[in-house]
Amino acid sequence: MAQQPSTEATRAPSVGELTPPDRTLMGPGPSDVNPRVLRAMSTPLVGHLDPSFIEIMDEVQELLRYTFRTDNQWTIPVSGTGSAAMEAAIGNVVEPGDTMLVPTNGYFGGRMATMAQRAGGEVVEVDAPWGEPLEPDVVADALAEHDPDIFGFVHAETSTGVLQPDVSELTAAAHDHDALVIADTVTSLGGVELRVDEWGIDVAYSGPQKCLSCPPGASPLTLSDEAMDKVLSRDEDPRSWYLDLSLLEGYWGDERSYHHTAPITNVYAIREALRLVAEEGIEQRWARHERLAGALKAGVEAMGLEMNAPDEYWLPSLNAVRVPDGIDDGAVCDALLEQYDLEIAGGLGDLAGEIFRIGCMGYSARPENVIYVVTALGDVLE
Ligand code: PLP
Repeated sequence: MAQQPSTEATRAPSVGELTPPDRTLMGPGPSDVNPRVLRAMSTPLVGHLDPSFIEIMDEVQELLRYTFRTDNQWTIPVSGTGSAAMEAAIGNVVEPGDTMLVPTNGYFGGRMATMAQRAGGEVVEVDAPWGEPLEPDVVADALAEHDPDIFGFVHAETSTGVLQPDVSELTAAAHDHDALVIADTVTSLGGVELRVDEWGIDVAYSGPQKCLSCPPGASPLTLSDEAMDKVLSRDEDPRSWYLDLSLLEGYWGDERSYHHTAPITNVYAIREALRLVAEEGIEQRWARHERLAGALKAGVEAMGLEMNAPDEYWLPSLNAVRVPDGIDDGAVCDALLEQYDLEIAGGLGDLAGEIFRIGCMGYSARPENVIYVVTALGDVLE
């Protein structure tokens, strides 16, 4: 190819200093970040094999175990967003030829199915409409019909605002069929009751940018010994090298040897975010989310709006509110952003145009945020 003559485009671009708008984040994530986490992120880097960083890694693992309510040795922050932890879970546990049972009741169950297929698994579905939780007897029937190796479910479905109840019943049914259970806890970890060990969850993954109020970049994952045994005795390597847990064991296990350069600053961030969880107390934190989201829900209901999920499945961290007839959800979200610097979101997939999604997560679950979102929404809808 002929050499290009020097043009304007080869000159160094002149880009101004970074000045993002000062938003209030009450959408489906990310949530507002606690200033202590932002401060932790501005501290100097150390190397990813520095003895001081090894200590930080141990602390993060201990704090993650506390937050997940688990004793699982295999508890780590995966480098990447929630989808990386999700793919680490599914891509390692699902072997080619395995059958995975996944739910149809929301957007993220669909993503589980896609990842399981890409891992070489055969996907079968347990049906429930968008906006409903899984019924234990329907799950039991699907387990009996398909006899899967793995059962995946979404504990807190961000696309519908539904919290899955009866988790212990679902896991007991799966274990009766010798299936391992993978739970998506992206929108529940640190915000609503979640007890990995007591509820019999074998593998749980999450994201830092929801109820932990931490920037995305290092995402929680925990696996029981039994799940890890399956991962370590695979016939075939997982398709991803980067997310291969048998290799990551070298870095996060006893050896602490190089696999990839950890995102140091994100590990600092999640350490501080998890320290805030421990200081508050996990149960107190669940109670705070329920209290403040309860006020948010009461506020929107007092305006005559309707919640999408019935009270029994209401998800405090993600409030799905029905869009009133004749209202354009996109225009409302735009107006809130422009007039109030306030982020909420519209619906996804089957619920596009039908719901607003209002988060109440972590540092965003504060009285001032709740009052702000309720009054601003009321104003824009008037
Ligand atoms: N699972 C659920 C329930 C989610 O809400 C999300 C993100 O919103 C993900 C998985 C994927 O996480 P990320 O967008 O951080 O990759």
